[in-house]
Amino acid sequence: MRTSRYKAAKFLIILGSVLCVSISAFSGAVIARRGDVSIGGLAVPVSGLNGTLQSLSFFICIAMVLLDYKFGFIASACCIGISFFGATRTIFVSHSISSLPGAINCIVNVFALILISTQLKKSRLAEMTDKLTGQINRYGFEEIIHKKIRAFEKGSIVFLHLHGLTDINVNLGRNMGDNVLKTVSSRIDTIIGGIGEAYKLEGSEFAIFVKEGHDCEELVKKLISSVEEKIVMQGEDSTLNVYVTCKAGIADCLNKYVNPDTLMKNADIAMNHALRVEDMKYCFFNERIKQIAEREHDVELFIKDALENNYFYLVYQPQFRINGKRLRGFESLIRMKLPDGSFVSPSEFIAVAERSDLILKIDNFVLRRAMEEFKEVCELYENNITLSINISAKDIALDGFVEQLLEVIEDTEFPRQCLELEITEYSFAKSTDITIANIKKLREHNIMFAIDDFGTGYTSLAQLLNLPVNLLKIDKILIDNICTNEANRDFVNAVIYMGHLMKCEVISEGVEDERQLSLLRELGCDFVQGYVWSKPIDYTSVFEMCREYLNV
Ligand code: C2E
Ligand code: CA
Ligand code: CA
Repeated sequence: MRTSRYKAAKFLIILGSVLCVSISAFSGAVIARRGDVSIGGLAVPVSGLNGTLQSLSFFICIAMVLLDYKFGFIASACCIGISFFGATRTIFVSHSISSLPGAINCIVNVFALILISTQLKKSRLAEMTDKLTGQINRYGFEEIIHKKIRAFEKGSIVFLHLHGLTDINVNLGRNMGDNVLKTVSSRIDTIIGGIGEAYKLEGSEFAIFVKEGHDCEELVKKLISSVEEKIVMQGEDSTLNVYVTCKAGIADCLNKYVNPDTLMKNADIAMNHALRVEDMKYCFFNERIKQIAEREHDVELFIKDALENNYFYLVYQPQFRINGKRLRGFESLIRMKLPDGSFVSPSEFIAVAERSDLILKIDNFVLRRAMEEFKEVCELYENNITLSINISAKDIALDGFVEQLLEVIEDTEFPRQCLELEITEYSFAKSTDITIANIKKLREHNIMFAIDDFGTGYTSLAQLLNLPVNLLKIDKILIDNICTNEANRDFVNAVIYMGHLMKCEVISEGVEDERQLSLLRELGCDFVQGYVWSKPIDYTSVFEMCREYLNV
């Protein structure tokens, strides 16, 4: 797009130059005739016609400068130079000063064009500069990269993303955030020195062009560690230490030509990949991560389509008391079936949805659908059954989540004491004050909470003991080799013991065989969920399962 616009501008300037030169040649011929010129039977004085031609020529020159203040100016100056040469030649050869006004006009025009092009250059520069850091902004960055690639310059593009700036803006004020950005930008400038150029993109992103022949990976490592160093800021009455973290994506055009837009997109893909992967600080672009990004994009479209066209439905996986196999309740699990009959796994689309706000829509759909469907089961069994619904960390951290949930409960007339919400341990580890406040409020409404995937997160013991939950779900990963790995078995034993200390009940999920079952029974686990007793089943089979196992 940018390249075609650039080519069009060049073409127009060349066309303009040809026109100007032709006009000045025609004008020279007219002057040589002297007297009047007849146009459509009208006698037009030569001086008048000549003035008109010069104005037209000057107008074309201005248009060329406006198209490109550098190339357009050079072209205009050449055209005016030719006219000037023609005029002065007439003066010297014919010893006539009839062309003197024309020659003076040329000089004035050149000065006028110098003025216009300088002003344009200044305003273009201001447009391309980030006011805060003084670095070139995205607008300028894109233009410069296009120019570099056109000039066959080789190198790598690094995109840097800062994390933590929003918190600084919110907690310490925008001025402090601005100062942090300035410090980071000068650190980047210092590190790259003469081996590249730094640009300030939107928000908390920077771009760097690293010239060919330098160790880009080493530079990125240095950049990250420098940016992440302590930043000392002057607070109102004391100094403050603030920190930001940083991730990078790198794409290069070293061994082959890469279209500039593609090159920048590749660096973006690489940076987004690094942002997605927890422990990855930087990532080089490659075809594999491009495929991951494309698949993610497709999955996002599937989700939107599924929400709009009802391709989502729920299945229910039973949970049993380990002793006696009495049914405790069901966990609702979402499914996506596309019109061509294929399925997308929830492990895949939930992860994609969690990176955007689509997860809020999914959770909303599941809450309403599960309660609508399961209400009849609760009525039939006088509320002696539990419905567990998975809720994302994003949802429970929402300010209005409690009101939203109570509204769905009211609309569907679902018995709230039968409702349990599952939140992963990981989201507890990252929980905010709002999350904990929401859980406490909902506990007051008799809604139960389970910690999902327990044993895989990083919740501290102190945090755990304060959690207002009633059920711990031990993750399948820990159950998988419980019979073959002694350390695993001891860990599960400790988790069950700790769960009971916290006055929680404990369920093991992903239990697939009898050996695991009897070992868990031995360890004192309260409930199980897994293929050993039942895979997830559809809504109609729930009634059958209840008939068989609820009155045991
Ligand atoms: P999860 O909450 O840990 O759900 C348990 C997953 O383990 C389910 O996979 C279930 O079908 C599977 N599973 C249960 N027992 C066994 C077993 O014995 N063997 C094996 N191999 N697998 C077993 P599913 O349904 O594919 O869901 C995957 C994940 O997707 C869930 O993990 C949950 O994190 C997410 N998810 C599923 N439904 C929902 C939903 O409605 N809302 C949200 N927010 N997330 C959901
Ligand atoms: Ca779950
Ligand atoms: Ca789980």
